[in-house]
Amino acid sequence: MITADLHVHSSFSSDSNESPVSIIEECIKKGFSYVYFTDHHDMDFPVSPENPDMDFQLDFDSYIKTLTKLKEEYRDKIEVLFGVEQGICPDVAPRISELSNSYPFDFIIGSSHLTCLSVTKGDPYYPTYYEGMTFVEAYRKYFESEVTNVRTTDGFDVYGHLDYAVRYCPDQSFVYNFDDYRDIFEVLLKELISRGKGIEINTAGITKIGYPHPHIEALKLYKELGGEIITIGSDAHVKENIGYGFDKAEDILKSLGYNYYTIFKNRKPEFLPL
Ligand SMILES: [Zn+2]
Ligand SMILES: [Zn+2]
Repeated sequence: MITADLHVHSSFSSDSNESPVSIIEECIKKGFSYVYFTDHHDMDFPVSPENPDMDFQLDFDSYIKTLTKLKEEYRDKIEVLFGVEQGICPDVAPRISELSNSYPFDFIIGSSHLTCLSVTKGDPYYPTYYEGMTFVEAYRKYFESEVTNVRTTDGFDVYGHLDYAVRYCPDQSFVYNFDDYRDIFEVLLKELISRGKGIEINTAGITKIGYPHPHIEALKLYKELGGEIITIGSDAHVKENIGYGFDKAEDILKSLGYNYYTIFKNRKPEFLPL
């Protein structure tokens, strides 16, 4: 059994109302040995006037204080780990490393939510992102920005939801054919592996696109290229979703020939048997 969910959001994220205590209690209830907090921090996030609360700025001092207290309180029941989901885009990538060394993180997910510091032009969630491009070009642009990010910063441990952009295609009948992007994934995964970085299986994809992120062909390619570091995360924003789809993630890992998954402590990988 997988005993750690390495991608969970609490009320420290702009888009979650779940209290850290209820997350810890839920992880204990579900039989996990570890509870990871990976709240959002997106530097210079372009806040829109319609959604002023969605600024994705993490109050690190309050976050650390709260988690340190809870870690101590729950030390006999579960291990509390201190993570962050750091949004990376080429505009801010050069500044990420410094931040990663400023706090005592156990684990940092680097994620692409924007390809540039503009919601309308950089966020694949918005139809305006796709203007002037085919969908294949739009996805390639997203993946290419991930390559740039990986080459520009080392301030993360695994890259989150690698093909997140495919969640939001404005035409839901458009088919995401992995072979249209295989060449760029090969570059991206080689860059990650050569830098000692991992990837995650993000099970939130199951409800959005029918399978976890990234596409199983990307996971196969990662393995073929020698990749070994795979964390598993639900990307839960409510406690009920913690550990969601982990049976599927375990099946996928085993089908690819993995007999372990990865957790992080003090930003060092540890491998646990499946
Ligand atoms: Zn994310
Ligand atoms: Zn997330």
